[in-house]
Amino acid sequence: MSNEQIPKVQLAAVSDDASGFTIKEIPVVQPDQLEPGRALVKILYSGVCHTDLHVIKEDWPAKPERPCIAGHEGSGIIVAINDPTSKLKIGDRVGVKWIAHSCNQCDYCLAGNEPLCAEAKCSGINAQGSFQQYCPAYTSQLTIIPDNLDMAEAAPILCAGVTVYKALKRSGARAGQWVAIPGAGGGLGSVAIQYAKYMGLSSIAIDSGAEKKALTAKLGASAWVDFKEHPGDAIIAAVKAATPDGLGPHAAVIASPKPEAYLTAMEYIRPFGTVVAVGLPPAGAYVKADVFFTVLHNKTLTSSYVGNRLDCNEALAIAAAGHVKTPIKVVPFKALDSVYEEMAKGTIIGRAVLDLFA
Ligand code: NAD
Ligand code: ZN
Repeated sequence: MSNEQIPKVQLAAVSDDASGFTIKEIPVVQPDQLEPGRALVKILYSGVCHTDLHVIKEDWPAKPERPCIAGHEGSGIIVAINDPTSKLKIGDRVGVKWIAHSCNQCDYCLAGNEPLCAEAKCSGINAQGSFQQYCPAYTSQLTIIPDNLDMAEAAPILCAGVTVYKALKRSGARAGQWVAIPGAGGGLGSVAIQYAKYMGLSSIAIDSGAEKKALTAKLGASAWVDFKEHPGDAIIAAVKAATPDGLGPHAAVIASPKPEAYLTAMEYIRPFGTVVAVGLPPAGAYVKADVFFTVLHNKTLTSSYVGNRLDCNEALAIAAAGHVKTPIKVVPFKALDSVYEEMAKGTIIGRAVLDLFA
């Protein structure tokens, strides 16, 4: 047990139905109540990902078990642990991710595809997430946070960072090539620009408004396309024109939570290009691809779902080395409601990070 006094009650954002959530007092799982394979993590910061909003609103076929505690970009400290087989110990700086648990023994886990493990648990769906001050986390998926990475800045890397880093790898784009990033001004997109730059790629930031344009340029995007100024198919010509030879980007990593971004990407990537589906709009969204030209131009549609433990360690190491710095706005826990409101309107710039004890 830790020297730190572990309180009996804590604040948590508890959602009973799709109408929202309440921040209220709930019991803290005490060290002697921890199930085997669990650690009690004092959550200092948690990023708010658009996934959390999809989850509580029940946007997707995967519905949360209620009452649900969302949150999956949680950075904190282990204050108790019940797992003699783990190297983790009290005092370690760790991250609670979307994949909260995996068996680590099935074929998917052995091949580094833990997100596909049949026993995987996801924060907010069937495991309690990081929107609580003391999270009884599974040790199987806790991630060590490098010592030299600020805990508030580490939080968004645990989902946004690892997700876009993996998606860029899956795009197959190589140094010197171009990638389009719809959703560039949001949480995932703003870090995608920086990982892309680190990987030697030039990026076309696609989003809307002067503030997001300025932010994406500051983060290193090479071009900007405002999707509201180019509605419908008009965006195809605008994105192609943003590349020096006018042929379009070699890849697109779609980081938008809206279905519209999926209607044009297969058109504006160049021949032999790849679209990576990442953003997860509500059920009923489709990717549009003209079959004739998809075949003739040898285009690829693929997808990317978070990342494995090694992807996350790499994404954190790149951030710790100073190559990626998430544009964060730290707000008190009680601001979660207004964060969701702004997120639904699309007005958040970068990532909002909750200070769980403010
Ligand atoms: P966010 O709300 O922070 O940012 C979304 C951005 O998309 C906003 O800046 C918004 O203006 C922009 N946008 C909206 N419509 C657009 C359009 N038509 N074209 C271009 N940009 C558009 O969201 P986020 O937290 O970055 O998450 C983005 C999406 O990624 C969500 O659907 C989330 O669930 C999903 N996600 C997927 C994975 C995965 O593993 N595949 C992981 C994390 C998040
Ligand atoms: Zn997320």
